[in-house]
Amino acid sequence: MQKGNIGVTTDNIFPVIKKFLYSDHEIFLRELVSNAVDATQKLKTFASVGEFKGELGDVTVQVKADKDAGTLTISDRGIGMTEEEIDKYINQIAFSGAEEFLEKYKNDANAIIGHFGLGFYSSFMVSKRVDIITKSFKEGAKAVKWSCDGSPEYTMEEVEKADRGTDIVLHIDDENKDFLTDSKINELLNKYCKFLPVPVAFGKKKEWKDGKQVETEELNVINNTQPAWTRKPADLKEEDYKNFYHDLYPMADDPLFNIHLNVDFPFNLTGILYFPKIKNNFEVQKNKIQLYCNQVFVTDSVEGIVPDFLTLLHGVIDSPDIPLNVSRSYLQSDGNVKKISSHITKKVADRLQDIFKQERADYEAKWDDLKIFIVYGMLTDEKFAERAEKFALLKNVDGKYFTFEEYKTLIEENQKDKDGNLVYLYATNKEAQHSFIEAAQKKGYDVLIMDGQLDSHFISRLEQKSEGKARYTRVDADVIDKLIMKEDVKSVDLPNEQQNALIDMFNSQLPNGEKMSFVVSFENLSADNLPVYITQNEFMRRMKEMSAMQGGMNFYGEMPDSYNLVVNVSHPLISRLLKSEEEACSAQVNPLVAQLADLSKKRADLMGDKKESDLPDPVKEEIKKIDEETTKVREEKKSHYVKFAADSKELRQLVDLALLSNNLLRGEALSAFIKRSVDMM
Ligand code: ADP
Repeated sequence: MQKGNIGVTTDNIFPVIKKFLYSDHEIFLRELVSNAVDATQKLKTFASVGEFKGELGDVTVQVKADKDAGTLTISDRGIGMTEEEIDKYINQIAFSGAEEFLEKYKNDANAIIGHFGLGFYSSFMVSKRVDIITKSFKEGAKAVKWSCDGSPEYTMEEVEKADRGTDIVLHIDDENKDFLTDSKINELLNKYCKFLPVPVAFGKKKEWKDGKQVETEELNVINNTQPAWTRKPADLKEEDYKNFYHDLYPMADDPLFNIHLNVDFPFNLTGILYFPKIKNNFEVQKNKIQLYCNQVFVTDSVEGIVPDFLTLLHGVIDSPDIPLNVSRSYLQSDGNVKKISSHITKKVADRLQDIFKQERADYEAKWDDLKIFIVYGMLTDEKFAERAEKFALLKNVDGKYFTFEEYKTLIEENQKDKDGNLVYLYATNKEAQHSFIEAAQKKGYDVLIMDGQLDSHFISRLEQKSEGKARYTRVDADVIDKLIMKEDVKSVDLPNEQQNALIDMFNSQLPNGEKMSFVVSFENLSADNLPVYITQNEFMRRMKEMSAMQGGMNFYGEMPDSYNLVVNVSHPLISRLLKSEEEACSAQVNPLVAQLADLSKKRADLMGDKKESDLPDPVKEEIKKIDEETTKVREEKKSHYVKFAADSKELRQLVDLALLSNNLLRGEALSAFIKRSVDMM
C-alpha cells in the first residue's frame, strides 16, 4: 500500500473547506455527479474516434444510499483513472494564494470550488472519509482504491474491480446524516441533475404490490438527457415547448410565448425563455430563470447575466462561457457577461417584433398579459425601449390596440390644442370615469385605457420622449374644453363678494378631511358644460401614485387626495343660486360687508406707507385690534353663507352630483342624496 500527503501548499485544506463552505454543503452531489457524467462523455468521445474499442454498454450513473453502512456512493462506467492519474488529478492540487482568496470569497462556495477545481474535494464537506475505487478503461489497467479521512494523508492500494469506471464512496459524517435520506437525495438530484446529458439513476423504480411499495429491477432514472433547449427549434413543436415549461414549473399556467436562444458566436449560449402568464406577484418571486452550465444546474439567481426586466421571465439559459464559478460582483463587471446580457435583450426584442408582425391578432390577444414585461423593459433599458417602440401597444377604452405611430396618426388631426401640443387622453377606470370619457368621445376624441401598475411611470417616460410636444392627461383632470384648449377660455368676471360667498358655501358642504381636500375655483365656460364639477390635478395625482408604488412613508403618499371643485360661473343654475343667496342673506350680510370695508380703510390709513415694524407701539396695538375685529366680522359673514348653504337643497344637490360623478359619494352621504332627490321630485 502506498501512503502520501496530498500536495497542498497550505497546511490542511480540509478545515478550510469545511469552514468556508458551510452554506452550500449540498453542492457536493452536483460536483460528484457531474464528474461522473464528464467521465462518461469522455469515454463516449474516445469510442467515437476509435480510441476505445470495447462495449459502451449501459452507462447510467448510479447514486446509491446505504443507511446501515452510512455511505453514499456515486458510480459511473466512464473512463476511470489509473494510479498515475489519481496522483495527478486528485493528489496534486494547485493551491497557491489560497488564504487570501478564501477570505475574499468565503460566502461563495461556487467561486472557491471553481477557482481551485475542488469539485471532488467538496465531498469532504459532508464526509468523514471518502474512497475512490476506480479502474481505467485503458487496456490492462489495474483497479485502485484511494482513501482519505480528511487529513492531508491518503492511502492508495490495488484492489479488484470487475468493471471500468469509478465509484466514489462517501462515509457521511454525523452532522450530515440528512444526506442519506431518500427525500434529501431526491431533492438534490431534482435540483441539480434533472437535465444532465447522461442518464442518472437513484436506486430502483418502485411499484405498489399488495398494498406495499416494492422495488422493481428497473433503474430509477431521474433526468431528461435531452431537454428541449438542447434540441433544434425545427424539431420542436409548440407542445414540446409547453411540456418542457411544465417540467420546469409544474404549477404554472401555460406561458404566453417562448423564445429559443441559440448562439454560438461570440459566445456559446442556448436556452429557452418564456413569457409567463402572471396571476400575482407571489409567482414572480417563485419561478425563476434557471442557469445551467452544460446541462448542470448552477443557480436560479441570474441577476447580472440577464437584464433586470427579463428576470421576470421564466425558462433556462445554458452557457459554458459564462464564468459560473465566480462571485456576483465579478460577473456584473465582466465584459462577456455584458455582451450576453445585451444579446439576450436583442433576441427577445426581435422575437416580439416577429410575433407582432406575423401574428398580430394573437399578439394583441396576449398584450394585456405581456404589457407589464414590455413596459418594465422600456422603463429600465434604453436599448430595449428603442426596439420596443415598434411593437409596444396602446389600448383605448373600446379595446382597440395601436402602435405608438398608429395612435399618433389617429389623434394628430383632432387632439392638438391651440399651442400645437398633442394631447393624449387616458382613463384608469372605465366605470368610474365614465362621464368624462363620454364627454371626450362626444367631441370626437379618443381615450386610452392606462390601468397598469407601471403606467404612471410609463406615461412620464412617453412625455419626456416627446420633448414637450405631447401631453398625457387623465380625462377627469379637468373639463374637456380645458384639457384640449382650442381657444382662450373667457375670464371669470364675478364680483369679489359673490366669489367669496360661493367659496364659503361650497366649502361648507364638501367632505374636507384627512383623506380628501377640496379647493373651490371658478371657470367661465359655456352653459352646455356642467354647473359644478370635480377634477383632480394631473401632476399631484401622478406623484401620489408613483410614490405609492415605491411604498413606505413619503411626502406625497401622506398628503390627502386633493381635488378641485370647479364652479362654472356662466351656468344659469349658478346665477340662480347666487340670486337666492342674495335674497336670503343680503339683509344680514350687506352691513357686514360695509363694516369690513370700513375696517380695511381704517387699517390702511393707520399704516400709511410704513412697515408694520416701524410703527409706534400704540398704533401697532390699534392695528391688532382692527385685525381681530376683521376676523370676527368675516366669521360672522361666513356663518350666514354656511347657514344658507345648509338649507339650500339646490346647492347640496350640485355638490353631491359632482361627487357622484367622481365616485366620491358614499355611505351616509349617498343615502342623504337619494332621499333629498326623491323629496325634490
Ligand atoms: P474538475 O472536475 O473541476 O477538474 P475535480 O476535483 O472535480 O475538478 O476533479 C479533478 C479531476 O479528477 C477531474 O478533472 C478528472 O480528471 C478526475 N476525476 C474526478 N472524478 C472522476 C470520475 N468519476 N471519473 C474519472 N475521472 C474523474
